[in-house]
Amino acid sequence: MSPLLRTYAPAPEVFVRGSGALLETADGKRFIDFLGGIAVSALGHSHPVMVRELSAQLARTVHLSNLFQNPYSQDVAARLARLSGLQAVFFTNSGTEANEAAIKIVRKKAYQRGEKQRTGLIAMEGSFHGRTMGALSLTHTEKYRKPFHPLLPDVEFVAPGDTARLRSLLETRRYAGVFLEPIQGEQGVKELPHAFLREVRELCTATGTLLVHDEVQCGCGRTGSFLAGDAAGVKPDVVTLAKPIAAGLPMGCAIVAAEHADVFEPGDHGSTFAGGPFVLRGAQVFLDLMEQGLQAEVVARGNELRAGLADLKGEFGVITELRGRGLMQGLRLERNAPELQKKLYAKGLITNCTAGEVIRILPPYVITSGEIACGLSILRDCLREL
Ligand SMILES: *Cc1c(COP(=O)(O)O)cnc(C)c1O
Repeated sequence: MSPLLRTYAPAPEVFVRGSGALLETADGKRFIDFLGGIAVSALGHSHPVMVRELSAQLARTVHLSNLFQNPYSQDVAARLARLSGLQAVFFTNSGTEANEAAIKIVRKKAYQRGEKQRTGLIAMEGSFHGRTMGALSLTHTEKYRKPFHPLLPDVEFVAPGDTARLRSLLETRRYAGVFLEPIQGEQGVKELPHAFLREVRELCTATGTLLVHDEVQCGCGRTGSFLAGDAAGVKPDVVTLAKPIAAGLPMGCAIVAAEHADVFEPGDHGSTFAGGPFVLRGAQVFLDLMEQGLQAEVVARGNELRAGLADLKGEFGVITELRGRGLMQGLRLERNAPELQKKLYAKGLITNCTAGEVIRILPPYVITSGEIACGLSILRDCLREL
């Protein structure tokens, strides 16, 4: 009997080291990493700057608590605020916690304004916001929710694109916030239509409802712009980030617009671990490298990946759709997507199958053209065998 609770069913191989987008197991098998630990390992594995800077930080301080200042929090927060076009940051340890913070932010704003009836929350059908009780209440997938009722009350799910239903809900002025992912990663890299994103923004503004973009998976430059919402020209009131933000270290954040920067007072929210010097140094290194040219590499590699996938779609009728942008892409299959994922893994390519029908590709931002070409050739071989 495993000493681990059965929340995951990992492959039997034990991974012991990596370099860039390559990973190696204990028995010497090598893999190309097209998944980056589910969108996390932005700088790949053992990036030399991370190794150098975090080794140095390990020798200074790892943790202080938020009762004391470290050299990085003001700088990292200011840079995240600038990159997102928003104003003030709360640091967390994960994406789920970032969304929990956002739930409290929208509730507190309604409370501050004296709108005591405004307690409800709206999320999208197909959403994934995490698995703690608040975030789970906003996660649409029935199988994740079912054993855990009662969840937060007054949560409504709206089909992406159903502006009429969203309007009628928001006009009741009983909802504190609307949560959405501009690109739904877990749902199979499903991009919400930009026109719909803009309509949601307008309806939220018109009804005094806060708009939260969950960019835990699609944010931090992965799709080519710092936020995926930027591509639609939409600024939310709150954005949540996590996965790649500290290049593999556990970190997330909620960032609020200037007009909501007064939302919390001391005691309203907190975290013992979050915002410590070790993880924030990781975030600083990530942001430095992004500004020093890595963002442009993401765009270039994303285009190479898309061109290669488009060729495969032309060759193999089983591929019904290409999804996503930059280094967040998906290959939708008519059938056998889980089998394809297993074949790819057996031939040394790490991907993930979501929503039962989409091969999801979320590689490290440092992946090379050669590694992409090699991954695409493994994909071609496996599609032939399918
Ligand atoms: C992964 C994910 C989360 C949850 O993040 P954790 O770090 O696993 O808690 C929330 N929202 C989205 C969109 C995600 O992809």
